[in-house]
Amino acid sequence: MADPQGFMKHSRSDAPKRPKPERLQDWNEVYLAEEPAERNAAVRTQATRCMDCGIPFCHSGTAGCPLGNLIPEWNDLVRRGDWELASDRLHATNNFPEFTGRLCPAPCEAACVLSISHDAGGAVAIKRVEETIADMSWENGYVQPSTAAVSSGKRVAVVGSGPAGLAAAQQLTRAGHEVVVYERDDRLGGLLRYGIPEFKMEKKVLDRRLSQLRREGTKFVTGCEVGVDITVEQLRAEFDSVVLAVGALRGRDDKTTPGRELKGVHLAMDHLVPANRACEGDGPSSISAEGKHVIVIGGGDTGADCYGTATRQGALSVTQLDQYPMPPSVRDDDRSPWPVWPHILRTYPAHEEAGERRFTVAVRRFVGDDDGHVRFIELQQVRVEKDSSGRRSVVPQSDEIEVLPADMVLLAIGFEGVEHMRLLDDLGISLTSRGTISCGSDWQTSAPGVFVCGDAHRGASLVVWAIAEGRSVANAVDKFLTGSSNLPSPVIPN
Ligand code: SF4
Repeated sequence: MADPQGFMKHSRSDAPKRPKPERLQDWNEVYLAEEPAERNAAVRTQATRCMDCGIPFCHSGTAGCPLGNLIPEWNDLVRRGDWELASDRLHATNNFPEFTGRLCPAPCEAACVLSISHDAGGAVAIKRVEETIADMSWENGYVQPSTAAVSSGKRVAVVGSGPAGLAAAQQLTRAGHEVVVYERDDRLGGLLRYGIPEFKMEKKVLDRRLSQLRREGTKFVTGCEVGVDITVEQLRAEFDSVVLAVGALRGRDDKTTPGRELKGVHLAMDHLVPANRACEGDGPSSISAEGKHVIVIGGGDTGADCYGTATRQGALSVTQLDQYPMPPSVRDDDRSPWPVWPHILRTYPAHEEAGERRFTVAVRRFVGDDDGHVRFIELQQVRVEKDSSGRRSVVPQSDEIEVLPADMVLLAIGFEGVEHMRLLDDLGISLTSRGTISCGSDWQTSAPGVFVCGDAHRGASLVVWAIAEGRSVANAVDKFLTGSSNLPSPVIPN
């Protein structure tokens, strides 16, 4: 039984971070590696703040956890110090809580009853509790391979090894199917490997989970582009079903601002991927911010990743621009599409380290030197207006122009769906108007026996949604192959 007054006795406290000067000297995670006993005591106190609500809004529903994480249950187990059972209950709904504990912007916390009022001291620190249970599970050996009792004799190909593909693969392997994950890159993990910077999640966290999947029997093939290195005919001949978890990596470009073609103006992923490769030991990044004035356009997660990466690369200055105002509250301001957290605009650790964020501004023009390299931007105050159909337009607020130095500009303005790939053409896959892969209520695409999950279906979204869709598509594939399934299906296609 939870302590219903715990939140009145203890205030919310987030995980302590390393000092800023120290974390800017390396690429390691920003959070302090605490002594386990000290960390566990602090997290037990945080778990004590949970009231075990009659209707736990954190746990599910439109605003809470898409995975249906059993948050009040494991909060109470942590409060009582039963970490092993807490681990069991956490893994019951989430294949990779160490990923979500580090990377998810925690819609559960925004939905927590205690987030309603500042007087309540803020939401339960659910993400901190989750990450600690997950890390404790590895430290204490609670995470072990879980192998299938019987084999179905069916074979499934999963295309893509990001969080959606890995979740689908693990669920289907555990259900007794032979699963082969194909990854076109040289290393596994998709965005977890080459999109997410090391300072948000060290790759050893990904690698230890991959070792569990391998020991359970999931097979992996890297450096293989399905549709090119393996034809669709081969795929159809060798597998009973296919899961497309190919992500939504087609970066939105700026097609209108004069000067976009200048050297030094890049899409965000063109900056993040080589930076992550450098952390993997592949040599210096081909696009580095060292010694440059850097402008990041776009106020979302990807923009924050570019921001922290540029800072660590030794940028002279980093400025992040957003057309939208800083919202005073998620509940009374729907103007910004960027992540907000109860009552305030989300601030990432990268924003605390250096640089500047500017709101209600837009670039009027990129200005280059004689060599065609960007050197300045012209900036204007703007406001975003919505017409009656919901279409947004950016309107200048004055004729005043501000000039900022800019040797490198990173466009982090979103993604436009799946990349063009021969695999989709050869399978005859239909796309939605948003450039994502369409599917029926059973996650099956226009190609029979071919299913889709994660960003490829949903569009660029949160890691928690990718895992939830991976789990759900596994249920659908299992049913397709065997006629029924006991696997969970936490979400339905949108
Ligand atoms: Fe606990 Fe908050 Fe969930 Fe209520 S909404 S059960 S206080 S975490």
